[in-house]
This record gives sequence, C-alpha cells and structure tokens, in this order.
Amino acid sequence: MKGRKLLMIPGPIEFEPDVLQALGMATTSHVAPNFIEVFGKSLELMRDVWNSPKGQPFIVAGTGTLAMDMSVANLIEQGDNVLIISSGYFGKRFKDIFDGYGANTTILEAPLGEAVSLDLIEKELKSKKYKALTITHVDTSTGMLIDPKPIAQLAQKYNTLSILDGVCSVAGEEINQDEWGIDVVLTASQKAIGVPPGLALLMVSQKAMEVWKNRKTPIPNYYSDWNNWLPVMKAYEERRPSYFGTPAVNLIVALETSLKIICKEGIENRVKRHKNLAKAFRAGITALNLEILPQTTDIAANTLTAVYYPKGIVGAKLLSKIASNDIIVAGGLLSGIQTSYFRIGHMGSVSPNDLVAVLAALERSLLELGYDVESGKSLQAFQGELLKAK
Ligand SMILES: *Cc1c(COP(=O)(O)O)cnc(C)c1O
Repeated sequence: MKGRKLLMIPGPIEFEPDVLQALGMATTSHVAPNFIEVFGKSLELMRDVWNSPKGQPFIVAGTGTLAMDMSVANLIEQGDNVLIISSGYFGKRFKDIFDGYGANTTILEAPLGEAVSLDLIEKELKSKKYKALTITHVDTSTGMLIDPKPIAQLAQKYNTLSILDGVCSVAGEEINQDEWGIDVVLTASQKAIGVPPGLALLMVSQKAMEVWKNRKTPIPNYYSDWNNWLPVMKAYEERRPSYFGTPAVNLIVALETSLKIICKEGIENRVKRHKNLAKAFRAGITALNLEILPQTTDIAANTLTAVYYPKGIVGAKLLSKIASNDIIVAGGLLSGIQTSYFRIGHMGSVSPNDLVAVLAALERSLLELGYDVESGKSLQAFQGELLKAK
C-alpha cells in the first residue's frame, strides 16, 4: 500500500507528474529570458485551448473568483443591466459580484435540475437593453451543463456582451469562443486546465476590449484593472519584459507544461475523452439505481457528476467509507440540498482506471452500509458503455 489517495473532486484535481515537476523548478526572475518565453508561449497556447485565435488572453495570480471579478470590474459600470443565467451556486456568486459593482442584475433560474429555456432568455433580452449576460457553462454545485452556443447567439442578436464562467469547463467541455461569439471565457488553473490552484485565466474578445476602452467611468478596482495588466500581457507575448504585479512564476511554468500536454492530446480529443468517460460513469451510477441532479443527460456535465444519496443511506457515512478506500469525493454545495447529494470530479488527467476505482469504492461502501445492489453491476455498465464509445 503506497497510501496514495485519488483526488476525485471538482477541483483541485489530480495533476500530471510533469506539471508538478515543472512547478518545482528553481524559481527564476520574472524578467529572465527563459521565463519571458514561457509566459509568452502560455498566452499563445491559451488561444488554441479556447479556440479563440483573435482573443486577448490574461494570466493573473488569483482564483476563478478573481477572473469573475475582473470581467465585471472592467466591463460593467454603475447602473448597467446584467442578465444572470444561473444553474446553481456559481450563478448566484456572479450576481453577488455584479451587485457589488452597482449593476442592475436580473437572475433567471430554472427548477433544480433543469436549464433555463431559450424562450425565457430571449423574452428577457427583449424587455430592456442588457449590457451583458452571464452563463455558467458547468455549475460545479449541480453538475449542470448549459450549451452556451445558442445563448451567445441571442446575446449577439440583442447586442449584449456574453460572459462565460468556464471555471469547470475550459479544457474539458467543447468551447469555440470565436466561432460562437462569446465575449469573455474565464477559468482557473486548478480545474480541467490541470495546474495547482493560483491562476485566474481569461480570454476576452476584441468587441469586449472595445467596450472596455470606451467606458465612461474609471475602473473601481486597482488589482483587477486591465489598464494595469494589458500592457504586461502584450509585452510578454511580444517576448519583452514587463511588470505590474510579480507573476506567479512557478505556476506559469506549470501552466505552459499543462497547456502543451492539452494541445498534444488535441482539444477535440480531450473533449471527446471527457464525454466518453462521463457517459460511461453515468451508466455505472445508474446501474446502482442512483439518481443524478440534472434531469436529462444532455444537460449533465462531462467534467463532474452530482449524485443524490439513495434513500436510507446517511451521506456523511458514505463519504467517510469512500475516503477510507482512499478515494476523495466532494459533498454537496448548493444550499438547501447540501446534505442530500455528493459530487465526483472527472476532468483533466482522468482515466478509465480512475473511474473504475471510484465506482468500485462507491459500490463496496454502499454494500457495507447495507444498500441492496448486486456487486459488480456498476463496473459492468461502465465497461460496456466505454467499449461502445471506442
Ligand atoms: C470553482 C469554480 C469557481 C470559483 O473558482 P475559485 O478558483 O474557487 O475561486 C467559479 N465558477 C465555477 C463554475 C467553478 O467551478
């Protein structure tokens, strides 16, 4: 027994050994030629992963929440109308951030497990002029996947900026930022991008950069202000030194390594791997007669799965049994139903073997707690589905 635990939560995730090794490299000056090259290359590689050849990338020390904050601070002015399309906890967080900057927010929410309809979104966009709308691509609290493409189309039709919270989707779910016309796609390092926590990453369309340049009022946030960061990003991409706040040197070295791994696999292949594994995993879960939060599989995320505890099983007991089998999964996050479900992350470096281990531990734990299920059933369903996908 090596005592190694498998970290299967929706971020931080299991990182590639090469990424962790890169992180441990001797820290160089942030203006050393080798680091300038690494930073510049990372900015370029982001465009490939986001499918945004024309976008303006930003790499800033911080978390996903900082990336959300940055998009709001730079694009929104007091009194602007903003439409929040929410599918859980992180939709509400976006609303809180906008409210904090004095925006006029309207939140659209569907019943739990359902997606807000396009008709409802269009009706709202018609009712008044919205400066921006937000979509949570994958809400990590519910495991809900929202298709951003038709919503981004509506945003363009009504001349509204679209901001995609892709913290739990970039490098795991399909994103074609430029083709779909999404103005901001933001994420954090510790999720499907596959780098330890500490980097906020954004890709901003030229249209959104114009809106930013033409704003009337100053940006009420010093650290988030793109006036400070844009010259730094431009300089590093042109392989020139620059400074505003010291870049997270080691994390950026690790980011370049991870982006290279992602691009080597190919973003399309990577998305397909996530789809196939998620589908097979859901088959395994269903074979245990367990239910997932999203009502239909077309709105079930491919980067994580949220599963209700079965009747008669105490959630905390199940999670501790799974943990004693060296598999770490996450509890519920959405207030009100927090103790009625749990979440399994399956993004980034995830392999079929990882998910076999999760299903085996889950099944064994359920059996030990007296749940009535045939041993091996979930594995059979998982394998069957995966073989079909090949
Ligand atoms: C994790 C997450 C966030 C917050 O990211 P932090 O790095 O924890 O600040 C925001 N949105 C979504 C969808 C997330 O999954």
